[in-house]
Amino acid sequence: MGYFLKFNRQKKQKKKPMSKLYKSIFNVNGCTVVKQEQTDTTVTITVRLTKGNASRCGCCGRKGKLYDNGREQRVWRTLDLGTKMGFIKMDTYRVKCRKCGVKTVKVPWASHRSGFTDAFEQQVAWAVCSMSKKAVAKQLRIAWNTVGEIVDRVWERLDTRPIKAGCIFRRIGIDETSYKKGHKYITVVVDHDRRCVIWVHEGYGKEVLDIFMRELSEEQRKGVELVTCDGAKWIRSSIEEFLPNAERCVDSFHVVQWATDALDKVRVEAWREARKENRNPKRGRGRPTKDSVPKDRTAEGIKNSRYALGKAPENLSESQQRKIELIASRYPRLYRAYQLKEELRIILKMGYADARENLDRWLWRASHSRIGSVKDLYAKIKRNYDGILNTIRLGVSNARIEATNNKIKLLIRTAYGFRNMNNMLSLIMLSCAYVDVKIAYEWESESRESSSKAA
Ligand SMILES: [Zn+2]
Repeated sequence: MGYFLKFNRQKKQKKKPMSKLYKSIFNVNGCTVVKQEQTDTTVTITVRLTKGNASRCGCCGRKGKLYDNGREQRVWRTLDLGTKMGFIKMDTYRVKCRKCGVKTVKVPWASHRSGFTDAFEQQVAWAVCSMSKKAVAKQLRIAWNTVGEIVDRVWERLDTRPIKAGCIFRRIGIDETSYKKGHKYITVVVDHDRRCVIWVHEGYGKEVLDIFMRELSEEQRKGVELVTCDGAKWIRSSIEEFLPNAERCVDSFHVVQWATDALDKVRVEAWREARKENRNPKRGRGRPTKDSVPKDRTAEGIKNSRYALGKAPENLSESQQRKIELIASRYPRLYRAYQLKEELRIILKMGYADARENLDRWLWRASHSRIGSVKDLYAKIKRNYDGILNTIRLGVSNARIEATNNKIKLLIRTAYGFRNMNNMLSLIMLSCAYVDVKIAYEWESESRESSSKAA
């Protein structure tokens, strides 16, 4: 008898330190390590849940009753150990929860339905926000479409998300971004003060924006003092319905864009006319005779003038300047539209009083221009008159929105290969929202602190 006791004690003492060491390396709790094995590229531990953790529901974490012992072995990928990939293996079974029904048992190291530990997912999320797509896949040795799912789960877990945390957003911007060559849209809401994205959603229109408005608390809605946007009616009506204290500002960036679009229409018309005039009867074969008329190349000049017309005059190159001069001499209507666009651009940079005076004068000139698309532009600007002047009076800069839009376009390209839209939106939020994505070791020490506080 005495011999057996002694033997058992010795055996226990031998076994425990190893289990402890592996648990500490793999950073898992609530389980016992029963086996470990390794190959050239992997280290795997097999674990069993300890009594206190053995019957928690995978969905909500409440204690339930054991339902079956299905003995399905599952494997979770965890952080690398040296150059080897780490895996945790366990026989899972199901638990009957009073709230959720029959679910797989909860494991302390991973989220429900994930094949990766929380620490690994945290590492992936941090890497996606800080490194290139190629670097992430190479360093972490995972397929790109799994990255999408991981990013989505990390974003859902995050409790410092700006809307959830109850932040007040004083000055926000609403914009839609197109991708897939303009076939798909997402609506983006940014915070001008914190310089970050607050919210993104698939699609655009009042229904989409209303979802955002409803997510805000009453206090958050009242706190919004200023909204920058383009002139869309759906944005206006949503603001009027939900944000009682907000002043609507129309981004100068959008106003210049409208003017450029109108100018482009005039240019296309002028080009068509020039081409029509230019259609000479076909000349015969062979070298042209000395007295034949040389081909008129103005039509081509207009066709390639889009870039020159869009640029600010002080930035034009010499050949572009010549193009503008040609247009001034031969196409007065197009030149007129160009001048109006330039005037508008300068007005938007003026102080409030000057801008107001000049904008009134500009409107008068545009309404008398007798150019169809300029008249449309006039109507649009007239409609958004207050919004445009608000922007100038309150001195709102749109630099942030433009920078964010570019970043989002880049992220959308990065997200190519993700299985679904939500994963892409989560990636945008993780990278552009005002949240700090913790790398695995930071995240671990933080969760250790919070659990010791709770204890
Ligand atoms: Zn449950």
